[in-house]
Amino acid sequence: MEHISDRIKAMSPSATLAMSQKSSELKAQGVDVINLSVGEPDFFTPDHIKEAAKKAIDDNFSFYSPVPGYLSLRKAICAKLKRENGIDFAPEQIIVSNGAKQSLCNCILATINPGDEVVIPTPAWVSYVEMVKLAGGENVLVPASHEQDFKITPQQLAAAITPRTRMIILCSPSNPTGSVYSREELKALANVLSEHPDVIVLADEIYEHINYTGEFNSISQFPEIRDRVVIVNGVSKAYAMTGWRIGYIAAPLWVAKACNKLQGQYTSGASSIAQKAAEAAYTGPQDCVEDMRKAFERRRNLIVSLLKEIPGVKLNDPQGAFYVFPEVSAYIGKRYGDKIIESSGDLALYLLDEAHVATVDGAAFCAPGYIRLSYATSDDNIREAVKRIAAALAKLQ
Ligand code: PMP
Ligand code: GLU
Repeated sequence: MEHISDRIKAMSPSATLAMSQKSSELKAQGVDVINLSVGEPDFFTPDHIKEAAKKAIDDNFSFYSPVPGYLSLRKAICAKLKRENGIDFAPEQIIVSNGAKQSLCNCILATINPGDEVVIPTPAWVSYVEMVKLAGGENVLVPASHEQDFKITPQQLAAAITPRTRMIILCSPSNPTGSVYSREELKALANVLSEHPDVIVLADEIYEHINYTGEFNSISQFPEIRDRVVIVNGVSKAYAMTGWRIGYIAAPLWVAKACNKLQGQYTSGASSIAQKAAEAAYTGPQDCVEDMRKAFERRRNLIVSLLKEIPGVKLNDPQGAFYVFPEVSAYIGKRYGDKIIESSGDLALYLLDEAHVATVDGAAFCAPGYIRLSYATSDDNIREAVKRIAAALAKLQ
């Protein structure tokens, strides 16, 4: 008899990965699909990082690594946090995991009890809500509208916190909206949080380097809450290393210890080879990061200008990450032949069928009425994809 656990039954599959899978299947059937669904840099991992991995193999880094990661990597991460963010961390406060995804999930499982509340500003990345459900926690969604550039206000945060709140998950630059909180906006949120000592801040900073504002601000910079901020980051986006699976937390010691315990029973240390590659990423030349950031900025400008020409598509001004999150409700309720577009999910499927462009339904980010497009692809793909989207939308009546 099949007996799937209740916790897995309650979980939704990752919509980003599902859409990407769908687009790969169509591609395998010979359909010319442009995949703007999954968000990952289209660049190859820089050569000096690949060389470090090859050397690690030759140097026999083939044994189990320490559960929290090699000390040399954790020291390199501490040096990065000091150099780029001006914050002192000890290597004991760093836990390296299989991607930032595991870092986030470790932290949620290690600190959230059934019934605890977790505040999540929305639109929010697909996995937060499911991870909180896995821990038995209660998601408290705080919608941030298009008009407020998808960023929550201190008043909204204060209203969402109850005696049962134990965590807020903040993602800046944001997946899926590209919004970036300024220092003043973060300071205002930190002021509210300073009055709630039981609430920890899970600061997802995975898009730190893909930022067009010229300045990155971490909420960990404010001393009044500093000892309750867990920074989540990794090499996936900044160094084009999504497949290597290295992320980390920089956390208060009690959180780091709990995550270390969980990881020790669950996955052990992350891949030895990938850790050596990540170490090279943090200690080596950094110009590759800026080169990729510049390319993303150029593509952001291109896709935003092209999408703005499509009637009824409403856009914010994304300042980071590599996503645009247009509001498409003008097309909901329209039809094409016998097809009726009843939701943004229907629209994403219609665009896949009709335009052969894979996007993700905003509902997966708790924001129905929107779709997400990743522009981590070539300029040619962006031009062609938007042309096809415009043509498909024009057919709807
Ligand atoms: N947080 C956000 C907001 C992301 O977009 C991603 C990428 N899927 C992750 C975390 C996870 O990153 P990683 O590939 O390092 O697991
Ligand atoms: N960051 C990517 C995305 O949101 C990766 C896919 C995932 O892990 O969900 O598309």
